[in-house]
Amino acid sequence: MEKTFIFGHKNPDTDSITSSLVMENLEKKLGNGEAKAYRLGKINKETEYVLNYFKVQAPEILENLEEKSNVILVDHNNFSESAEGIAKANILKVVDHHCIANFETSSPLFYIAEPVGCTETILYELYMMNKVEIEPKIAGLMLSAIISDTLLFKSPTCTKKDEEVAKELAKIANVDIESYGMEMLKAGTDLNEFTPEELINLDSKESEAGSAKVQVAQVNTACIEEVLKDKEKIENAINNFIKTNGRNLFVFAVTDIINSNSQIIALGDRTDIVEKAFNVTLKDNMAFLPGVVSRKKQIIPVLKENA
Ligand code: MG
Ligand code: MG
Ligand code: MG
Repeated sequence: MEKTFIFGHKNPDTDSITSSLVMENLEKKLGNGEAKAYRLGKINKETEYVLNYFKVQAPEILENLEEKSNVILVDHNNFSESAEGIAKANILKVVDHHCIANFETSSPLFYIAEPVGCTETILYELYMMNKVEIEPKIAGLMLSAIISDTLLFKSPTCTKKDEEVAKELAKIANVDIESYGMEMLKAGTDLNEFTPEELINLDSKESEAGSAKVQVAQVNTACIEEVLKDKEKIENAINNFIKTNGRNLFVFAVTDIINSNSQIIALGDRTDIVEKAFNVTLKDNMAFLPGVVSRKKQIIPVLKENA
């Protein structure tokens, strides 16, 4: 049997890592034993906490994708966020919860997308559809990603379905959602050992707003000031990124997961888009955005509308 590579997006988050592992588990149970999870980058602190908690090994890093390799994409579809060589791969399946952009295949495929808060919510439905039982460890991984992507159900991306699925998974995994979830999210806010360059690349997405090339990076914290104590160094790193990668706008969102707000740093030659989008005047390149926690729903679409 030919090997199948399963992976999520670059700068992987908990959903991308666990969905790859969970998809591998499901594929094996469905008889595709050659399917294997991979990752496209470093494991972040939150994901590390999850893998340690449920005693699961991180997927191997994907070194290179040969032409015509069989792949399954989870938690993304945009080629710019995918593996090098994805355009020449043979995409068998996609399980995702993002808008569909920059995606084309030469062969028919299994594609499932739903506007839910997390890829794992869709994977849960695939287990049910295929009548495959979910083991406690797998349930724990799935639950963790739902908590991560929805910020413990507080993000506007969270749907009723995500919450219902999370409750079922918590029973199987035998964990208390609130206390486990808070510990897990807090583990992800430990940003001390990252350099400013790493910080702005931990969870960073490329986008377009009108003709402007935009990058939106996000970190979670329990204390915004703590992250911004090195503001100048972060700004230098952002300006270097803009120069090297040719962006018109870089938005770095520092999201307070306790109070559900974000402080943003905006740099580049199109910061006017930010000022218009959020009706703010940047002071020291910064603005405070009350109630904004979701890049997908509250930042990127608003920038696009106001470019
Ligand atoms: Mg993701
Ligand atoms: Mg996701
Ligand atoms: Mg995310």
